[in-house]
Amino acid sequence: MATSAINPLDSARKQLRAAAAILKIEPKVLAVLSEPKNELTDDIPVKMDDGSTQNFNSLRVQHNDALGPFKGGIRFGPGVSLDEVKALAMWMTWKTSLAGLPFGGAKGGVICDPKKFSKGELERLSRGYVQQFVEHLGPGKDIPAPDMYTNAQVMAWMLDEYEKLTGHHAPAAFTGKPVELGGIGARESATGYGGFVAVQQVSKLLKLKPKSTAVAIQGFGNVGHNAAQFLFDAGYKIVALSDSQGAIYNKKGLNPAAAMTCKLEKGKIAECYYRGSVVNGSKSGVISNDELLELDVDILIPAALENQITAKNANSIKAKVVVELANGPTTPEADKILQQKKTTVVPDVLANAGGVVASYFEWVQNNYGYYWTDDEVHDKLSKLVTAAFAKAVAESGEHNVDIRTGAYLLALSKVARAIELRGGI
Ligand code: GLU
Repeated sequence: MATSAINPLDSARKQLRAAAAILKIEPKVLAVLSEPKNELTDDIPVKMDDGSTQNFNSLRVQHNDALGPFKGGIRFGPGVSLDEVKALAMWMTWKTSLAGLPFGGAKGGVICDPKKFSKGELERLSRGYVQQFVEHLGPGKDIPAPDMYTNAQVMAWMLDEYEKLTGHHAPAAFTGKPVELGGIGARESATGYGGFVAVQQVSKLLKLKPKSTAVAIQGFGNVGHNAAQFLFDAGYKIVALSDSQGAIYNKKGLNPAAAMTCKLEKGKIAECYYRGSVVNGSKSGVISNDELLELDVDILIPAALENQITAKNANSIKAKVVVELANGPTTPEADKILQQKKTTVVPDVLANAGGVVASYFEWVQNNYGYYWTDDEVHDKLSKLVTAAFAKAVAESGEHNVDIRTGAYLLALSKVARAIELRGGI
């Protein structure tokens, strides 16, 4: 996958400045929103299985809480950096605002290689994270959730640690928990489901029929895999899938469920071409992640990392539509090129909002102590993402800007107004 030195925080700030200029946001407010409100960093000592103690640099960045408590996931990974987490925290502020949730934006991270951890080491790191930041967390302060390489089990350990340290039950302190601890079944697939709703909406807008719409998806983790399955079930033609080690392509279509079974067995998706029902008989090709991005498809879904569509490859993108399920997959320079080419981009803050929307439903249910069915969650999620999509498209039409800028205008004006109502800066 394309890795580059492009700093996501520069991209996030450029996007903010573009929207702020249109809205004529006060320089004071712009300066405040360009930086996080709180930047918490610390080393977490973790007892390893071999008896040694290792320190892991850990971060919690709280960008803005004018609209409500800080909200956002925690990611584990070797490539995590302070600037990346700062950008992701800012994107959460826009995402929650655009979706109309009573939350601000935050993000957390730990620089580590989670694939090398035993279960015990992972648990001790998760608990250590909460011990480090406990005073800054809570249902009315800052509510973490899963992100890359964290999951419901990690949230369970974190919640347990939080409740031990504070001495009371507080299920609303973390979202993305296991169902038994107050989570919701539909949370895990929610980002993929929200992405599916975004694809449905853009299909309607551009009059694309599922059966004749070819979709390429970069990334086969929780988000990419679930989106692929929802789209496949709705009749879209999934022609390419990839993981970090390579991609498979077949013009006639791939079956994501069979691809997942094969990936679990073989370890990588590139080993899954021409296997059983993955490609339905005809021989498929093994391609690279970069080639996947440039395929001649109708819809391209980057669902992996930041900075995948850059000034270098934007001219070669052939898809009519890009639906960003990853956070920050398109750089501002690439965005300009895509605009000139009249590629429709459904931005991350809209397309991948399904996860935090489901987190909001989970938080509401925890606060109420009353739980809905998965169908109710999907129904409410679908309505919310559909409404946000319609608003962002209308706003972009009104200002004659792309959908991302339309979404930013809505999100930013709400946050700026909340700051003003609170008495300014
Ligand atoms: N990590 C997800 C995101 O980037 C979900 C955040 C949340 O649920 O708080 O949107």
